[in-house]
Amino acid sequence: MILIFLGPPGSGKGTQAKRLTAEKSWPQLSTGDMLRANIAQGTELGIAAKKMMDQGNLVPDAVVVGMIRERIKNSDCLKGFILDGFPRTISQAESLDQMLSEKGLRVDRVIEFQIQDGELVGRLSGRRTCSSCATMYHVKTSPPKVDGVCDKCGNPVIQRADDNVEVIEKRLKVYHAQTSPLIQYYSQQGKLLPIDATKAMDQVYSRVVASLPKRSFFGQFLSRAFAR
Ligand code: AMP
Repeated sequence: MILIFLGPPGSGKGTQAKRLTAEKSWPQLSTGDMLRANIAQGTELGIAAKKMMDQGNLVPDAVVVGMIRERIKNSDCLKGFILDGFPRTISQAESLDQMLSEKGLRVDRVIEFQIQDGELVGRLSGRRTCSSCATMYHVKTSPPKVDGVCDKCGNPVIQRADDNVEVIEKRLKVYHAQTSPLIQYYSQQGKLLPIDATKAMDQVYSRVVASLPKRSFFGQFLSRAFAR
């Protein structure tokens, strides 16, 4: 199953992807997490990306496409994966279609997390993230049990450099200008399924699960092959 979680920053894609990953064992491929791992390791790629990320801009298409191309070669992606925060431009979506078709695969479903900008500023400015396992918290609605310490792995919980109001507004502008055209792109492919991301986390998760196709393109291909 190849899924794309599409939506503005703070719409809950990452949280929902983590939950689905835990249930279905399809890894969550978050280009934002991959870039932050590069920053933490001080790689050349991380140093170059940090400036753009801190300003709320996108990093070049070729960088993220290259990261995804390498990542999906891992054996944990054989049964499928969840793309979280990728693709973010039409060019990335076209590259993804191309790299999947080279493997005889295609995107099964694109879940669009719908939410107004006004709600996102409050969500993102109160968001805190584990510096190690990327578990997400919110200062008001879901703080860690011990202030500043991740419930899951015990590492420090921090505020991301780009989760401040000025950069959040920039990221939302970038989303509307460069990423939202993907809504039409995937709608035309008949793969888009919008869900209301303002609902409680459990309700959103139920909708995510209900919106999954019964069988992936790869699964259908296999069963047709065996039926012959
Ligand atoms: P995220 O964690 O998904 O909110 O991403 C954080 C930041 O990483 C974004 O604001 C971008 O600067 C960068 N980034 C993550 N994914 C992509 C992508 N697919 N294309 C370009 N930049 C990305």
